[in-house]
Amino acid sequence: MLICIDAGHCLSTPGKRCLKSIDPGETREWVLNSRVADKLEAILAGYDCQTMRVDDVTGKRDVTMSQRVAAANRARADVYLSIHHNADINGGSGGGIVAFVAPKHQRQSEVVRDAVYRHTVAATGLRGNRAQPLAEQSLYVLNYTTMPATLIELGFMDSTHDTPIILTETFADQAAAGLAAALVEVYDLQPRRRLEPVATLSAEEFRVEVVAAAKRSIAGDYINAGYFGSYSEAGERFALPAGHLAGIYTATGRWMRHYAEERGRFVGDRWIFDSSRWAYANPTHGRPVTTVYTQGSQVRVAELVSLPDDVGHAVSGIPLIRDGRACTVADIKAQGWDTSPLRATWHTVLAVADGRAHVFAWESQSDNLVTSGEAARAFAGYRDVVKLDGGGSFICRQNGKEQSTAEDRVICSILRLPEKQEGLELTEDRVRQIVREELDTVNYEQWKEYMDRYREELATQDATMPDLVADAVALGISADGSRPRALMTREEGMVMARAAIMASRAE
Ligand SMILES: [Zn+2]
Repeated sequence: MLICIDAGHCLSTPGKRCLKSIDPGETREWVLNSRVADKLEAILAGYDCQTMRVDDVTGKRDVTMSQRVAAANRARADVYLSIHHNADINGGSGGGIVAFVAPKHQRQSEVVRDAVYRHTVAATGLRGNRAQPLAEQSLYVLNYTTMPATLIELGFMDSTHDTPIILTETFADQAAAGLAAALVEVYDLQPRRRLEPVATLSAEEFRVEVVAAAKRSIAGDYINAGYFGSYSEAGERFALPAGHLAGIYTATGRWMRHYAEERGRFVGDRWIFDSSRWAYANPTHGRPVTTVYTQGSQVRVAELVSLPDDVGHAVSGIPLIRDGRACTVADIKAQGWDTSPLRATWHTVLAVADGRAHVFAWESQSDNLVTSGEAARAFAGYRDVVKLDGGGSFICRQNGKEQSTAEDRVICSILRLPEKQEGLELTEDRVRQIVREELDTVNYEQWKEYMDRYREELATQDATMPDLVADAVALGISADGSRPRALMTREEGMVMARAAIMASRAE
């Protein structure tokens, strides 16, 4: 489902602006159109559909109407929605929303037109006073598009009533919500299934292992993590990292060990490969390469030429989103990566947020997950997203389940996965844990009730050491030894200690 969105005009279109006597800033029509279009795209990103813009989203270039129509027709969009704001009231007070189809139109165009009108009026309350708010008009983008098409005018830029309203961000939000609701209704768009991480790891839990082993031969729960080059020496197949790598060394091969010692360094049970210290056949050498790493209690992401001295675990990858901005193929190539890993297949993806790593097993669908915008859409909401190796190297094993591609490649490194907490069986231990957690959130009234009940229960219990209690009574420390297990106050304790001392002095 491809929805074509056309924010009418461009910044410099003559005449298309708000009336100066109402809006001294003479806001350009494209600015209003584009603001609604941007918001509409953002809402639709949450649905199972694609959007394309046929205007220049910077507003600078004047994309002609025939270019807009040609782009939509060529892309075989399923619907064309042109967003405009109206004028011809000349400072009067009327206005409202109006929506058009071409005089010669498909029946579906009317369905879309009526839905976008109904939903935007409902969402914005801009009812207006036009005689025919649902109309037919010969407009280029409606006449020449091959798919159902409608053009909506979201209020008047020269109306004392409409203009102050349509200038507000709130109006744009409401209008976009109305347009989205209409498209969801007409095309039965389903909310996009939010990608669930297979694990969320704190710095303490972020554990890279250098395995240099066939991807299915590794014990426990893990996901492949990190790019590498494949090697073979005297019959031993092994793999050495591309980009930085730091993690527990569990590889067993003799030649792997040889090259690991040659190219990196061992610190305790960790092996650290700093890409800046190895130039031969290393395309990321000396370049700032996007790396997810632990430092103290934080999982961080940064473009690193070399690893910090106090690095814990680290793995480099292809940046997909950095600081909230979708990365480009140029960004990726600049780090030394080639773009072959961007094809449709399974990938390990890390999103870093709040000092933790969210780990995803993700299957992309487009030829190039960067240029298609697929990665940016799939991980919208994360500010920092890094792709690790995928394709033939992909494997994710967790809780006895395996997801992987067919090849059984020797891979260089993995990320350990903890047992997934969700969907745990309700064992006795699990029930106890839930009860404990429940008690953690008990309020004062409940706590006091528990405590009172506990005190009452204790007070009725017999002495566990009745002989000693009898001695205490004989020594005058306790009057009659009754309620031996009742809780006592500090004052009561002091009085009893005093009685004991007095009794000993009297002896
Ligand atoms: Zn217009």
